Amino acid sequence: MPETHEIIIVGAGLSGLSVAHFLRHNTPDLDILILEQDDRPGGAVRSFTDQGYLAEWGPHGFLDNNPASRALLRETGLDRIAQKAPLGSFVRFVCHDGRLVQLPQKPTALLATPLLSPLGKLRLLGDLFKKPRIEEQSVGQWAAYRFGSEILPLVDAAITGTFAGDYERLSIDAVMPGVRALEKEAGSVLKGLLKKKKGAGAGILPAMTSFPLGMEQLITTLATEPNILYHSPVRSIGRENNAWEIHTEAETYRATTVILALPVNRALGLLADHAPPVTTIPTARIATVALGFTDKAQVPFGFGYLAPERENRFAMGALFSTHMFPGRAPQGSVLLEALVGGRRHPERLELSDEELISRIYDDLKQLIPLPAPPCFSRVLRGDGSIPQLEMGYPALLNWKESLEQRLDGLHICGFGWEGIGMNDMMQTAKTVADRILLRVGGERHKPEIKPVYF
Ligand SMILES: Cc1cc2nc3c(=O)[nH]c(=O)nc-3n(C[C@H](O)[C@H](O)[C@H](O)COP(=O)(O)OP(=O)(O)OC[C@H]3O[C@@H](n4cnc5c(N)ncnc54)[C@H](O)[C@@H]3O)c2cc1C
Repeated sequence: MPETHEIIIVGAGLSGLSVAHFLRHNTPDLDILILEQDDRPGGAVRSFTDQGYLAEWGPHGFLDNNPASRALLRETGLDRIAQKAPLGSFVRFVCHDGRLVQLPQKPTALLATPLLSPLGKLRLLGDLFKKPRIEEQSVGQWAAYRFGSEILPLVDAAITGTFAGDYERLSIDAVMPGVRALEKEAGSVLKGLLKKKKGAGAGILPAMTSFPLGMEQLITTLATEPNILYHSPVRSIGRENNAWEIHTEAETYRATTVILALPVNRALGLLADHAPPVTTIPTARIATVALGFTDKAQVPFGFGYLAPERENRFAMGALFSTHMFPGRAPQGSVLLEALVGGRRHPERLELSDEELISRIYDDLKQLIPLPAPPCFSRVLRGDGSIPQLEMGYPALLNWKESLEQRLDGLHICGFGWEGIGMNDMMQTAKTVADRILLRVGGERHKPEIKPVYF
């Protein structure tokens, strides 16, 4: 007889662990099993420590302005130890004509920035008069239409910093559904933003969040809660006698509810029989090159910088890690984490560690006064690759939603489905958990969980 559980989650990354947390926080006696292919939880989230340095293979932080992630931190007690780097006090830089220029943090600072010409600044207001175009567009097409082409290097930097992607290929409807909705509703992005600004909390900038032991501390905390079976890659799922059967190489499991908490391409592999519009979507891989310098390095104060493609830099950008989160390097040293590769330069990841370190150092020292070579260096090549929500993606999302409606007890979340950031994962996990809890009783009435007998 297959082992039976009320709920089976496939994947113990941030998404799977967050769904399990939200479910169990509400209904502690739910019978949940997580099947994880790896020997560790966390997927793309993984921290690195060596010789007093603390760096990240994957994500470096998330903003503290999302209700679901705030709830998760509060409920786990992680909010008491979270480290915060507020956007209000940390400037960000963009590489512009071969030097680092501070990004304007406020609309008034926009007037003085050398990043746009006077005409370019005036053209931003063109947004007020441009009718929303309904058809799907790339991020680049959309931004140029609304704000003028001078804005494109800044858009490129922003997209590089989030997707490691190509703004000419990513779909605006997939990447910024909120902004698109605002634009369509108010007739212009600026009009929509002005209306929103009048609301509560307006003008307060969020803070980047991490933890004393790095991002992995979030995972190790969440992973203590549920029952996780490691070394259990799921090979197929199917419906049998009104329940889901989940097959790993060695076992078959049954559950009335199955949650695929997987990156898009992994989920598509398991759902291939349901005629998805595409079999895979493109992804972008990046490597982090962690470099330690003595404190003679004059790293400007701030978060870090990003480089648009037209600057022809080797690194996509770098995080000034010890400014953001002090204590991530030994006394008297600073840590920079440069990012390389991405959608446009996967070939750079073929280079040896030595070559990467040397090319990154050459690149950085043209932008930042670094009087001596790094005293510490490590290349972190994570397993995770960032799903690219490119043109055509909204059709895939529609397919996923209709599948969830059609197939009873199937829920899909995870890397790329409804965004790519950690906040997106925790928010979608909360939505999935709420949907399941509503079904089995919800928060208000004591849940009536039907035990599964076979
Ligand atoms: C290099 C990099 C940098 C990033 N930087 C940031 C950042 O700074 N800020 C931010 O907000 N976000 C960032 N992200 C995104 C963030 O890491 C993701 O949003 C998040 O980790 C996705 O979690 P997930 O659980 O959905 O997917 P994953 O982390 O991919 O986890 C999926 C899990 O499922 C398991 N799995 C896969 N297939 C199977 C199977 N068939 N059976 C069983 N188990 C399976 C995997 O082993 C893995 O443990 C970054 C991502 C990367 C790759």
